[in-house]
Amino acid sequence: MGLRLTVPRRFDGLAAHAARWTLRVADGRIAAVDAAAPAAGGGAGAVVGDPLLDLDLGDEDATLLPGLVDAHVHLAITNTDPATRELPPGLLALRMLRNGHAQLRAGVTTVRDLGAPDGLDEQLRRAYAEGLATGPRLFRAGRPLVAPGGHAAFMGQPVASPDDARRAVAAAAAAGVDWVKLMATAGLSTAGAEASEQQLPDAVLRAAVAEAHAAGLPAAAHAVAGPGVRAAILAGVDSLEHGYALGADDVAAMRDHGTTYVPTRTVVRQVADALEIDGSRPPARAQAAARLADATHADAIRRAHAAGVPIVAGTDYQHGALPLEVALLVAAGLTPTEALRAATSVAARLLRRPDLGTLAPGARADLLVVCGDPLRDVRALRAPLLVVLGGAVVWCAPALARRGVAARPGA
Ligand SMILES: [Zn+2]
Repeated sequence: MGLRLTVPRRFDGLAAHAARWTLRVADGRIAAVDAAAPAAGGGAGAVVGDPLLDLDLGDEDATLLPGLVDAHVHLAITNTDPATRELPPGLLALRMLRNGHAQLRAGVTTVRDLGAPDGLDEQLRRAYAEGLATGPRLFRAGRPLVAPGGHAAFMGQPVASPDDARRAVAAAAAAGVDWVKLMATAGLSTAGAEASEQQLPDAVLRAAVAEAHAAGLPAAAHAVAGPGVRAAILAGVDSLEHGYALGADDVAAMRDHGTTYVPTRTVVRQVADALEIDGSRPPARAQAAARLADATHADAIRRAHAAGVPIVAGTDYQHGALPLEVALLVAAGLTPTEALRAATSVAARLLRRPDLGTLAPGARADLLVVCGDPLRDVRALRAPLLVVLGGAVVWCAPALARRGVAARPGA
């Protein structure tokens, strides 16, 4: 079904434009964009029974954006509780469906899943492809490379040497991953280790990244603080995840190596604030580590931003919280426009997908319409009106449902 959408204001992934404007979609892609003609026949609203969904929001206080990208999620994970690491895969798979749907409802049409146990991320992608459920476009890393017994060992491939790392990357590539994920340091919730402890040695990081790049795969490193941050950057990872504390030398190294920074401010706040998800709150030890991280994180973001390091929005395991991450990036010094780029065009560049995160003709028709103007106040992202994935409406607010707009079955 084609789609024609008229809006009074848009953010195209790079900049805002305040003018009535019509976007047309065909075959899942943005077909053309025009300065809007006046509404035909006074027919605002959906044209029921027409194969073309024609929605005129030109007189509403609404903004059209590309569908958002959450560049750091784990759809199989919702909290730090070790007991949930033992859950049966069927239950985890159902939670993943719910979590993917929460992302869509928040306007997130693409996620990069940076680690899942047991091939669940690949199975979820197959379920989406088979039409069993509707969820965001899924870029996946499969099982991360971890130190034996280290951070995220429950879902990782343990590697103790450069040869292990090369074998693990080859196995991941054979399993069809889009990214290679490395747990360079411990984390807020690692039992028996300080969060800043380096866990994968320099030589292992270098071997893994070189092997990934030789296979045409980008690499992402979980590195929260301490020497593992620099080691990951110098090893050549494409994105540095978390980076709760970054020194001036770390930031200079990121700038020199073209490293993208995905700070995941959301997870620090979530753990520091002891948010309960799926029946579990972070343990006191993780809360204390998160409060320490919180004290330096905004400074790290400010410093990287000032140095021109690309910053991309990611949340970790609070699904549908990307609007919060965008607001936290603004609180850390990005302008609303820069923070929205971090969740659209800059994220798409990290994913090497110029057809995402943009409203340009030919791009995938992944769209978000929100009430209000997020360029003035990014909190407007919390009020989605319409979410479109590949040209299909996958979520709409009750106000639009009353006008005859319907999300496709399974969404
Ligand atoms: Zn993560």
